[in-house]
Amino acid sequence: MSTDSATETQRKSDLSFCYFVIDSLPLAIVAVDPDLRITRFNAWAQEITGHSEKQAIGRYCGDVLQGGMCSRDCPLRTVISRQEPIIRIETTIRRRGGNAIPVEMNTAGLFDQSGNLIGAVEAFQDISKKKAQEREKSNLISMFAHDMNSSLTGIHGLGLRLLKTEDLNQEKPRKFIEVLTKEASKLEFLVKDFLEFSRLQTGKLNLTFDATFLDKELYELFSIYEPKAAAMGILLTLESAASLPVIEADANRLRRVFANLLSNALKFSRQGGKVAITVEESDGEVMVTVRDDGIGIDPEELPYIFDIFHRGRDAEKKEGYGVGLAIVKAIVEGHGGRVLVASEPGKGSTFTVFLPKIRKLGEE
Ligand code: ADP
Repeated sequence: MSTDSATETQRKSDLSFCYFVIDSLPLAIVAVDPDLRITRFNAWAQEITGHSEKQAIGRYCGDVLQGGMCSRDCPLRTVISRQEPIIRIETTIRRRGGNAIPVEMNTAGLFDQSGNLIGAVEAFQDISKKKAQEREKSNLISMFAHDMNSSLTGIHGLGLRLLKTEDLNQEKPRKFIEVLTKEASKLEFLVKDFLEFSRLQTGKLNLTFDATFLDKELYELFSIYEPKAAAMGILLTLESAASLPVIEADANRLRRVFANLLSNALKFSRQGGKVAITVEESDGEVMVTVRDDGIGIDPEELPYIFDIFHRGRDAEKKEGYGVGLAIVKAIVEGHGGRVLVASEPGKGSTFTVFLPKIRKLGEE
């Protein structure tokens, strides 16, 4: 074989390897010539756009992608004229016969070995999920602000009326104070969950470990939730060994864990239902179970219920933001423990928190 043909064989093999890499990447890649006619359209580009390679090659890129920037600031035109790449812009492309899809796009010029411009390439990814999450997040934040606002307006208004109580009879101030306290406690719960959530996001969830009397913490929570359960027609019970071991934990955060599990158990129970807290211990762990016989969780939703902002379909009618269980998981895992869930729709749910009695070395 002559040197020239060996070089040519090597070049072809390099090229086919490049195409293999381009087709395997989970990234849509579209190359165009200087007139913006498509010269390469990889498998992911076909998947996202719904156009086959055959339908796309040779056509004007704007006709195929129908991108949100095609008619005004076509990124390909810009990189060709400026000869500078454009990195991570968010735009849209239109699926064949369908909807606009949000994409994140990188665009660059293509040059031959002598540095002459021979076209351009754009690589993009479907970011529909990211956009949907962003929308959900901002919806929740506005719902949160809305709920804070209505509670605050109520508190403010009642405060003003209380200041003028002389002309009211004796019963009214008491009623007002009851409403004030209820609204304030609702706000406190909301704000605390959001504070914990932002600490989670910024990695600032610092736990303070101390000797913690788990039975005392659970009993106190039980005393708070028992009247609430009774008012909802639900029987709340607490069963634990005569005396539980003292564990190394952040007591305040643990209360938050069990408060969230308990308020969910009550929220998703029916009148006449039962919620049971049971505590057991093994050699190295304490297991706290919160069991209800409420509406249960769809098996398809189970893998996601600890995700931040995830709310079950049946949860739509109840108050909440889908933050509570994400906080439960983060706090329990911060203790070196784990939380498991078992549930059957229509029959109820069981959440079990496993906590090590002694913090393992190296854990903060
Ligand atoms: P929220 O209760 O504010 O919706 P959570 O993060 O506490 O948020 O819970 C996430 C979802 O998990 C709920 O929306 C609900 O669908 C489901 N869930 C949690 N606890 C229970 C329970 N005890 N019974 C039924 N569904 C539950």
